[in-house]
Amino acid sequence: MAGNITFTMIKPDAVGAGNSGAIIKMIEDSGFKIIAMKYTRLSRKRAEQFYMVHKERPFYNDLCDYMSSGNIIPMILENNNAVEDFRKLIGATNPQDAAEGTIRNLFAESIEANAIHGSDSDENAGIEGSFFFSDMERF
Ligand code: UDP
Ligand code: MG
Repeated sequence: MAGNITFTMIKPDAVGAGNSGAIIKMIEDSGFKIIAMKYTRLSRKRAEQFYMVHKERPFYNDLCDYMSSGNIIPMILENNNAVEDFRKLIGATNPQDAAEGTIRNLFAESIEANAIHGSDSDENAGIEGSFFFSDMERF
């Protein structure tokens, strides 16, 4: 059965552009409940750790520079079928491919600065949530 928890973070482009309020409103209006949230910034080293799974990809270095370039808002969200439904709400990685009305369609600047992260599996939602919230196990 699909889990009811996912992890997200609003990325530096969207926070810097003042879009975090609009994005949080879309998340809540879509039925997701925010059960943990903070406003913070990743060091270069922490960004490298978060995206370790992509370390062999050509975009890894740029991505780590970008993700440590400004403030972010990580959150843990609750909803039925959370991981899959949240990926639908954010849209495709490349905003040019993101469906109309998705968060990335509305707010992303580029394939790299694409406004928001969403976990791709229940397992990764747990790993990524624990990366930011030490009390994740209570969820
Ligand atoms: N990314 C990038 N160039 C690419 C693919 C991805 O800069 O060609 C960045 C982008 O910020 C993306 C992140 O790396 O959100 C993680 O990539 P992934 O393929 O996991 O995409 P996502 O799961 O975020 O849609
Ligand atoms: Mg991914």
